[in-house]
Amino acid sequence: MRIRHFIILLFLPHLAAQAQVDFNRFFYDKTMRVDYHHVGTRGEERVTLDKVYQEGPWPGSMVNLVDTLNLGEFLVRVYDVKSGLLLYSRGYSTVFNEWQTTAEAGRGVWKTFHESVRFPFPKRTVQVTLNRRNEFLVFEEVFSATIDPADPAVVNAESQYPSFEVVELMDNGDIHRKVDILILGDGYTANEIDEFKKDAKHFNDVMFETSPFKERANDFNVRALCVVSPESGIDKPDINVWKNTPLGTMYNTFGSPRYILTEYNRDLRDIAAAAPYDFLCILINDDRYGGGGIYQLYTTTYANETHDGQEWQRDYVYVHEFGHSFGGLGDEYYSSSTGYEEFYPEGVEPWEPNITRLLDLPHVKWQEQLTQNVELPTEWGKAEYDSLRAELGTLDRLADDYYEKRAPMFKRMQEIAGNKALLGVVGAFEGAGYISEGMYRPCLDCRMFSLSLVDFCPVCRAAIERQIDFYTE
Ligand SMILES: [Zn+2]
Repeated sequence: MRIRHFIILLFLPHLAAQAQVDFNRFFYDKTMRVDYHHVGTRGEERVTLDKVYQEGPWPGSMVNLVDTLNLGEFLVRVYDVKSGLLLYSRGYSTVFNEWQTTAEAGRGVWKTFHESVRFPFPKRTVQVTLNRRNEFLVFEEVFSATIDPADPAVVNAESQYPSFEVVELMDNGDIHRKVDILILGDGYTANEIDEFKKDAKHFNDVMFETSPFKERANDFNVRALCVVSPESGIDKPDINVWKNTPLGTMYNTFGSPRYILTEYNRDLRDIAAAAPYDFLCILINDDRYGGGGIYQLYTTTYANETHDGQEWQRDYVYVHEFGHSFGGLGDEYYSSSTGYEEFYPEGVEPWEPNITRLLDLPHVKWQEQLTQNVELPTEWGKAEYDSLRAELGTLDRLADDYYEKRAPMFKRMQEIAGNKALLGVVGAFEGAGYISEGMYRPCLDCRMFSLSLVDFCPVCRAAIERQIDFYTE
């Protein structure tokens, strides 16, 4: 009963919506960045304050300050101490909460991650709380701090901006009413900066050839920050390759060869502060398949051409990962190994808008988009798909003949995922979120499901559009 009660609230976020405050009464048009250490192990966490910074102009909306989207594992809330008013909130996810699902954390190892939250620079003292979802998805406070913006300990980051070149890729005007994307490179040396500029333009073109970004291109500003690296390429711990790079990105995150993240959050934030941004995309100067994307944190994508006829895969990765970091979308696939254990605990409905455990039938999370009279769950040829998947899983992704061996199986899987009879049908297709049984996705195929250049499904598209709307009012 408690779950059902909460789910009803979750799907009608406007019921819980609260009035937005007058920006100019409470905020300056600058950004406050609060850095903290997130310390813990599985099932346990502590947060300690690091430093508070003043950054450049506030890049977000001046109207939509309190979050209405209800996405993310965490939620930062900013209250005016004098009046008690909630001034700002934003959902987000972290490397820490992903790490908590790894075997390492399961063994009780404690680790520290550096994180940041950013919000408009307050005019007077605020209380900042960090909140995390419990098993009923309700946010519970894990940390609280009172911050006086006049405190001389607030670091003026403007004097610390590194002097990397900023290239305007798309300029559609007022940063408060546009989604501002900042593309950064990692592992590009001074001699390779022209390559970075070329790559940034390439991936940006790819993004805005994809719906719904294509139709909403005027709602975005995109800049590229030419971060110069002392060494070319990034860390690959599995083959003992180590590089000194400004953003500290690496393959093999959580033991997965293709998972690229960085734990150098402070460096990333200091460098990114050179330009206004709502969302960060990091291009990796390497041709080994890989990437990553965490909601409201950043995306990573390997950027180099592979010259093996599989160039399209990097384009797939860039837009797929942006689906995570921008739309708060979950992975709809269940066919690749990850470094996670129980990423989505049993019996708990994921907060992601595009995957569900169908705990609330006949109500479905994407009720408004369901195809009329669709069968729930929706039969889609899963048994055959799964047997091919099992065969595919025995191949070595790094072997020279990987693509040759993969081709026939991959083709048949794409045929199943491309079944014309199910094209455009929104139902509940079993297999999603790294889980084969009991987790469902909205459509047969989607950019969040198969490794292909297929479009986002209607449910993912709507989630992306809601995010664009939120940032552009
Ligand atoms: Zn989808």
